[in-house]
Amino acid sequence: MKRPTVFIDRDGTINIEAGYINHEDNFIIYPFVYQAIRLLNKLDILAIVVTNQAGVAKGYFPLENVYKLHNKMVRLLENNGAKIDGIYFCPHHKDAKIREFKKDCGCRKPKPGMINRAITELAVDTDFMYVIGDKVSDIELGVNCKCKTALVMTGYGKAEIEKLKSKNITADFIGENLLDAVYFVIDDLKKRGYPLFL
Ligand SMILES: [Mg+2]
Ligand SMILES: [Zn+2]
Repeated sequence: MKRPTVFIDRDGTINIEAGYINHEDNFIIYPFVYQAIRLLNKLDILAIVVTNQAGVAKGYFPLENVYKLHNKMVRLLENNGAKIDGIYFCPHHKDAKIREFKKDCGCRKPKPGMINRAITELAVDTDFMYVIGDKVSDIELGVNCKCKTALVMTGYGKAEIEKLKSKNITADFIGENLLDAVYFVIDDLKKRGYPLFL
């Protein structure tokens, strides 16, 4: 059975924005994230992380570093009763220093590659998709993939509101943080008549 799906940005949305994170000690999850993901789990909504990690292409950290951080993220979430249903990341960049990752990649947000892949690999109900993130590129990703969108005020969020305006893009919801945005998703699903079992 296909399920409503929330595509969640990583840096600045799940963990504290700290530039290019090259060590797991600098990977700190916001405290409200656990409840947000638990809510999605409880309601049978898929929680999928989609993140650009061009730091790999730029030579700021090796690919293994991304896996290390994701292991830490999954472990911390699990310890708090929360489960991520999938993680997709793009390590590429068109101006990369590292040749094997130099690519104008179709999965780098706001391009739709990661979401398209999730749709083929997981039980995503394409009628009920949402993107939550702290950047214009997250909102653009949502627009490109016909998802509803929520901008959060953590990470770069506050500064991105002006950029959204100047690009004439509107998010469906602007909220404090991931938990706030998850409440928006739940409300919106209810409004659209989706049978959620609370
Ligand atoms: Mg972000
Ligand atoms: Zn890529």
